[in-house]
Amino acid sequence: MFHSWSAQELIAPLAVAGAEGSYFWDYEGNRYLDFTSGLVFTNIGYQHPKVVAAIQEQAATMTTFAPAFALEARSEAARLIAERTPGDLDKIFFTNGGAEAVENATRMARLHTGRPKVLSAYRSYHGATSAAINLTGDPRRWPSDTASAGVVHFWAPFLYRSPFYSENETQECERALQHLEDTIAFEGPGTIAAIILETVPGTAGIMPPPPGYLAGVRELCDRHGIVLVLDEVMAGFGRTGKWFAVDHYEGVVPDLLTFAKGVNSGYVPLGGVAISGAIAETFARRPYPGGLTYSGHPLACAAAVATLNVMADEGVVEHAARLGEEVVGPGLRELAARHPSVGEVRGLGMFWALELVRDRETREPLVPYNATGEANAPMAAFGAAAKANGLWPFINMNRTHVVPPCNITEPDLKAGLAALDTALDAADAHVA
Ligand code: PLP
Repeated sequence: MFHSWSAQELIAPLAVAGAEGSYFWDYEGNRYLDFTSGLVFTNIGYQHPKVVAAIQEQAATMTTFAPAFALEARSEAARLIAERTPGDLDKIFFTNGGAEAVENATRMARLHTGRPKVLSAYRSYHGATSAAINLTGDPRRWPSDTASAGVVHFWAPFLYRSPFYSENETQECERALQHLEDTIAFEGPGTIAAIILETVPGTAGIMPPPPGYLAGVRELCDRHGIVLVLDEVMAGFGRTGKWFAVDHYEGVVPDLLTFAKGVNSGYVPLGGVAISGAIAETFARRPYPGGLTYSGHPLACAAAVATLNVMADEGVVEHAARLGEEVVGPGLRELAARHPSVGEVRGLGMFWALELVRDRETREPLVPYNATGEANAPMAAFGAAAKANGLWPFINMNRTHVVPPCNITEPDLKAGLAALDTALDAADAHVA
């Protein structure tokens, strides 16, 4: 194996023997509660029997088929997704994952508008293929940056580390919108095909935008004929306690919405783009110049149909919303009150971040931005302490995210928060 994002000789991947629900275990008998949902994709946990059965059934009847044909699983998956996406996002283009969804969404936007540039935010992740990594606003872009990509980055709102020196959400929203408006003016509105944003930025820190921000971006896009792409690869399919994160922001409907991960809990690779009527119309009589051999793969689509039905039948989205509000939010705020290393708690549904700091007053991160080796030791110590307590934590830079499966049971969730409590002692030890 050649592993992603790693120096090959410096890693020792855990050998996993099995997984079920919110847990997985190794060959040594260690069992872990998965507070990461894999890479935030097992929204209904591992090995849901109904989804496993649907994949088996599909494999027995039609394992694969080329993308140009109409198939039951493919059409049904598209119907179930389109029924849930907001507004008139009623055409579904299938990909194998999130990055390909972003590639195709930006291609659609460029062809629809005839304009070259795409604006995206710092503190974002959009995938690791060419366009997607260039759109990304974190250090994973740096080694793959191609100056010709036509991407311009801007600052999105993030009050805790405000790029605008704001003191409250209203200021942050106004100033972030003014900054975006200025960026558009100076780049030239007629050169901008799309603005892409994670509705709620995920890996970059789970920062729900302040009220009014997305509506303001929608208005700027409308004013200048710019396509609004919302990337819901991580935030979609129940993660935030609604089917899509954009459902929290009344009246906001993007022109394109990218998805992957939770659409079938990651059981078989699947992603896609939900497309508005106007953009679909652009390609009604003119061929869309893009495609993938495995677009709408029957196994992946059968898994999506089963997952979406399970989520509806078992009330998974409502469950995530309730546990987020009643258990995770209050539980994490209680941890913040006792642990000096916790600078901020933020999130919604099953999508939460703890910002770990050396100093609450200055908000100095527990480890420097993009730290490696010795400089990252405090976060490594926190991670090791969590694992020693049977909790597999999500860690990115100076943050830990609480992103378990959306159908985690309340007792498991509480056990995870208790393990987190103990692990945070290791972070407290590094507070200045
Ligand atoms: N967009 C967002 C918001 C993501 O979080 C990710 C992956 O984490 C991607 C795109 C890329 O998805 P994939 O890894 O399936 O290509």
